Amino acid sequence: GRPARQALPVFREENPDMPRPCNFIGGHWTESSGEATLNVYEPATGEVIGTIADSTPEDVDRAVRAAREAFDTGAWGRTTALDRSRLLTRLGTLILRDVDRLAEAEARDTGKPASVAKADTVALARYFEYYGGAADKLHGETIPYLDGYMVTVAPEPHGVTGHILPWNYPAQMFGRTLAPSLAVGNATVLKPAEDACATSLLLADLVTEAGFPNGAVNIVTGRGSVAGAALAAHQGVDFMSFTGSPEVGQIIQKLCADHYITCTLELGGKSPQIIFADADLDAAIPVIVKAIIQNSGQTCSAGSRVLIERSAYDEVITRLKQAFARVRVGAPEMNLDCGPIITAKQQARVQSFIDRAIADGIPVLAQGVIDDGAPANGYYVRPTLFGPTPRENAIAREEVFGPVLVALPFDDEDDAVALANGTDYGLVAAVWTRDGARQMRLGKRVRTGQMFVNCYGAGAGIELPFGGAGKSGHGREKGFAALRDFSKTKTIVFHHG
Ligand code: NAD
Repeated sequence: GRPARQALPVFREENPDMPRPCNFIGGHWTESSGEATLNVYEPATGEVIGTIADSTPEDVDRAVRAAREAFDTGAWGRTTALDRSRLLTRLGTLILRDVDRLAEAEARDTGKPASVAKADTVALARYFEYYGGAADKLHGETIPYLDGYMVTVAPEPHGVTGHILPWNYPAQMFGRTLAPSLAVGNATVLKPAEDACATSLLLADLVTEAGFPNGAVNIVTGRGSVAGAALAAHQGVDFMSFTGSPEVGQIIQKLCADHYITCTLELGGKSPQIIFADADLDAAIPVIVKAIIQNSGQTCSAGSRVLIERSAYDEVITRLKQAFARVRVGAPEMNLDCGPIITAKQQARVQSFIDRAIADGIPVLAQGVIDDGAPANGYYVRPTLFGPTPRENAIAREEVFGPVLVALPFDDEDDAVALANGTDYGLVAAVWTRDGARQMRLGKRVRTGQMFVNCYGAGAGIELPFGGAGKSGHGREKGFAALRDFSKTKTIVFHHG
């Protein structure tokens, strides 16, 4: 009985001026050099909601040339820090003006609950506000040197930066990666994920409305192995920012090495939430569950392992089971705890992790419920709590990227640290304890880019440097750290005699 869903207007089939899906290049909507298109599916229903250009390396080349021109000879390269501050801030304001329209597209495109998509869109605006405020506060220093010399050291833009986005937080990622790069003064080429690019395309028109010079922002849709690889390999790109899987991250780094540029890689995680017997369980349990349920576990910083001090194991598990069994899954407009998985392929991958763990004899302690109102053909998975989980099992070590939490008991602080550090990843961690000295020791000893003490991922964290170690990648995004990665240092030595 549910009414058939409409195509998302962002994909523009209904626009007579634009019969085919387009890329945003040099400030204009531009048809692909090829004929091919890709379908975009709505995760909540499995229905096609639009098509995008399956862009060619030639399209990518055009976009990089447009960025190059904007930076080398165009208006963008001549902007002052104050100009960029105003442009970024204005874009943030336009995003807030259009927050409902953008959030609806984000929710339809990704399947996330409507309220979450809205919060993500507000965070997107905040990235432009934050880096708009920072653009004219990035400055250098002078260094005392030899007699008769004056030395200045200052950051400057790389030139053209390439950005490859994942599908899990398309709106937030647009701001997280583009805003700091634009603040520094780079011209940008963005390839959003083929599975969720609606907000990126909608934002192109706001970039124009905000008054950015042509070519400062270019957006090319398409497949990773074609358009994404062409971008990372392009000689005209000076720096790459990638967020996605470790496997593709390695490919990107190699493509960058081929033309002597560097990249930031934000890859996956298997982030531990460490809970000691003295923790405030009333505070901890809802946060621990949310840290894995949020975005259906499709979050690089998902808290996918809960490490529990053995003496409190039974008590913590009893409470976690109750909380997990209450988790409800449905379509975005139902605004439940979480939505579907992004694609049929990812749904099958997550489900196979769950099935393998069950086949390996790991006890299922609790499962969330797919609401009866959820459309029949959506890509839903039941959130699942496993425990006790053998430390060497795949589900305790590998990133599932779904709503799956594994519980593992530990004996003491040393054991907790060894267990926390016992995967290839190191992105985020949390410790729950009332013992202040222990909080500090764990803060130092756990291999992670971010450590939360008696909390987890509070807020969107735009101000807080973020990034990993090992298989979680390298480089830092968010906060002022991102401005450093998106710039390079120039030293000028003046001889004044
Ligand atoms: P992916 O790494 O394949 O895709 C991420 C982005 O990279 C997309 O834009 C894609 O088009 C592009 N890409 C793919 N192959 C490429 C190539 N050869 N060259 C250049 N670009 C390429 O990720 P996925 O297939 O969407 O998801 C698979 C797994 O990745 C997930 O299960 C999860 O473990 C991980 N993942 C992590 C994050 C994160 O935020 N860390 C986000 C999405 C996915």
